[in-house]
Amino acid sequence: MIRVLIWNEFYHEKFDQDAMKIYPDGIHKTIADFLRSDEELEIRTATLDDENCGISKEILSNTDVLIWWGHMRHDLVPDEAAFMVRDAVLEGMGAIFLHSAHHSKPFRYLLGTSCNLCWRESGDREVLWVTEPSHPITRGIDRYFVLEHEETYGEPFVIPTPDKLLLIGSFSGGEAFRSGCLYERGNGKLFYLQPGHETFPTFKVPEIQTIIRNAVHYVAPSYRQQTTCPKVRNIDCGEPYVDIL
Ligand code: ZN
Repeated sequence: MIRVLIWNEFYHEKFDQDAMKIYPDGIHKTIADFLRSDEELEIRTATLDDENCGISKEILSNTDVLIWWGHMRHDLVPDEAAFMVRDAVLEGMGAIFLHSAHHSKPFRYLLGTSCNLCWRESGDREVLWVTEPSHPITRGIDRYFVLEHEETYGEPFVIPTPDKLLLIGSFSGGEAFRSGCLYERGNGKLFYLQPGHETFPTFKVPEIQTIIRNAVHYVAPSYRQQTTCPKVRNIDCGEPYVDIL
């Protein structure tokens, strides 16, 4: 079983009329519902309203893949919690950052750049182009698919060059964007997916659900271990990993 924790700041869906209509129980609930159809996944959710924003070392140590959606409340996530997420990824936990989570603290701490971008809320049509059809995350997706309306994100997207660019978004307003970015950080894998604005039903689109489900399986850890910095003995002593105290 892959233990998945879906984290949502859960703000717009309580106050914004459009978001409330589309995601009455929160974006995290919609994502949980479609992932629960996968019998290999064990799903939990957490929100900013939970104690310590739903993040602790124990929770993360029992999480194989963390999915993160946030937008207006990034600053309310304590640094301590954000660093816990970063360190868990460095140990090997998988992470998927959705849409406006590009500005979340854990994402920025993992990538080390501003993660700024250009944006516009005009309901552009977005065409998502698959650049890596052989990749497990894009399995089952055709050459491209269309979102009738999405928030426009545009370059420059201030991120390190992705280890793999899996999707490019093109918008009817003219922009192009690196919409599916895969990284390795330490022992962990993290995937950024651009679509997912709160006032459009993006998380109900089958292709988006397929990509998120595929990504959960792909970033799930195969190795999870904190990497330390030991002073070690010469290999001839027969105990090469013994720390010299
Ligand atoms: Zn948005």
